[in-house]
Amino acid sequence: MAVYKTFQPQDALAYAVAHTSLFEGLDPATLSCSEIGDGNLNLVFKVSHPSGTSAIVKQALPYARCVGESWPLTLDRARIEAEAMLIESELCPALVPTIYHYDAGMAVTIMEDLSDHVILRQAMVAGEHFPRLIEDMARFLADTLFFTSDLYLDQQQKKARVAQFINPELCKITEDLFFLDPYCDHERNNVYPGFETRAAALWHNEALKAEVAELKFRFLTEAQALLHGDVHAGSIFVRQDSTKVIDAEFAYYGPMGFDIGSFIGNLLLNFCGQWGLMAAEDQRNAYRSGLLESIDQLWSGFAERFSEHLSQSTRDPSLNTLRWQSRLLRGIWQDTLGYAGCELIRRTVGLAHVKDLDSIADEQRRLQAAEQALILGEALVLQRHELDNMADVLAMLVDKV
Ligand code: ADP
Ligand code: MG
Ligand code: MG
Ligand code: MG
Repeated sequence: MAVYKTFQPQDALAYAVAHTSLFEGLDPATLSCSEIGDGNLNLVFKVSHPSGTSAIVKQALPYARCVGESWPLTLDRARIEAEAMLIESELCPALVPTIYHYDAGMAVTIMEDLSDHVILRQAMVAGEHFPRLIEDMARFLADTLFFTSDLYLDQQQKKARVAQFINPELCKITEDLFFLDPYCDHERNNVYPGFETRAAALWHNEALKAEVAELKFRFLTEAQALLHGDVHAGSIFVRQDSTKVIDAEFAYYGPMGFDIGSFIGNLLLNFCGQWGLMAAEDQRNAYRSGLLESIDQLWSGFAERFSEHLSQSTRDPSLNTLRWQSRLLRGIWQDTLGYAGCELIRRTVGLAHVKDLDSIADEQRRLQAAEQALILGEALVLQRHELDNMADVLAMLVDKV
């Protein structure tokens, strides 16, 4: 294993030349490299040649980039990210960038350049639509969650996988940002001026806090499947004909509904944000209805494919009972709604905001959209046991905003 050093662009370039065959035969003097990362945690370099050949070099820093050296963060996240993405790409090769090389010592991964795609968050803020997105994400979620669980893996293999993906420091970030901060007067919180009283109401909502405690406990203890762990709209690259999931550094064994709920939560954040983003009412209503349809299709696509896997690929005969499997799916559904609700709440009042709300220019509209996000988030968390199907959820959503 190489000895770690933080890359400058010229180091990333030399590293990509030395560790892939992509640039073979090209004069290194004709290659260029720049840092393009816009994420919170890591360095991302793009190495390219004028002919179009290119690669991405992602390197973890020994601290969180957005905060600086005062927030140390394990380099092991780079290994976890690369190893999780390799498993994902075995299961869904079309939905993950190709990994060319990774080195745990240097905390570096070299991967396919997806510059011909756009980040889903930006595209959804701009009101764009991607016809493959929902079907692709339903497949990604059903396949990665089923085939890394005890439903499919041999018992020994699964336990080894759990150990491979022990990710305490990154899990701690989620545990704090999702389940702790928004429900108390935490200094990390980021509350819009004029929204303080509304945010403070969360700290005293005992019914809500009890449900969030339940969801947090499940996040801490339910080693159901290898989660991606960070399926927000900034971790998905899209093109009209392609979907790619990146940034798996939060991967660990957790409750399946967390990944599904994170993604649905991001669709709902955009649903709320469109209140202030899209000016023309007809167009806005149509786009928002489309988002609700997408959520419906995402869950039904997931449930259909996951059920197919249950009936065709469950290996352990003692887990192969229809009656229990339908109970399992029901549990995943309830978790999905709960974690979607947590995502809505934490992105509205917690540390890490989203452009879907923050980029609303009109202040009053922005506060109204934030209010919608909190109302929906609270309702999903509180009512997840009574909401029997997506029709109930959509009726509740439309009713409340
Ligand atoms: P972080 O863990 O710091 O959030 P990400 O993996 O999300 O890092 O990457 C940050 C940004 O770098 C992305 O939003 C995107 O703009 C760019 N990026 C990351 N991976 C690729 C890639 N494979 N191809 C092109 N750009 C990428
Ligand atoms: Mg990211
Ligand atoms: Mg690929
Ligand atoms: Mg990341």
